[in-house]
Amino acid sequence: MTMIEGTPLPSTDDPGDAPFWEAARRGELVVQTCGACGQRRFPPRPMCPKCQSLEHTWQPVSGEGRIWSFVVPHPPLLPAFAQVAPYNVIVVELAEDPSLRMVGNLVAAAGGPINEIDPATIAIGTPVRVVFEQVTDDVALARWVVA
Ligand SMILES: [Zn+2]
Repeated sequence: MTMIEGTPLPSTDDPGDAPFWEAARRGELVVQTCGACGQRRFPPRPMCPKCQSLEHTWQPVSGEGRIWSFVVPHPPLLPAFAQVAPYNVIVVELAEDPSLRMVGNLVAAAGGPINEIDPATIAIGTPVRVVFEQVTDDVALARWVVA
């Protein structure tokens, strides 16, 4: 584990997104899928933005995508992140639907630190795939490596 001391962590027992975190612990990336029209959506929310249905399931996606954008955060930062700056935060568009975007970090390999990639080498459009890092017993975070 490379979790930085003091890193804010998500609640994993909220019924609205608990299935996402359960899947992440299994090393699987899932997104909400409308039970009426089949529209995938992320981040999770109770109602389909396309047809307003409240029915949904959680369906696996490939975990492949492309870097849609990225930033290199600068101070002021939360103390947990200040100690590892500069690091990257990337936005990934998923292969199944480019309108589905997830925020994470580009790492060299699963479990690697979020500051080991030189930000000058990150390019929008680069193919990436998801990896998971189990940072606590409850929380596995999706991170990304170059595909
Ligand atoms: Zn729908």
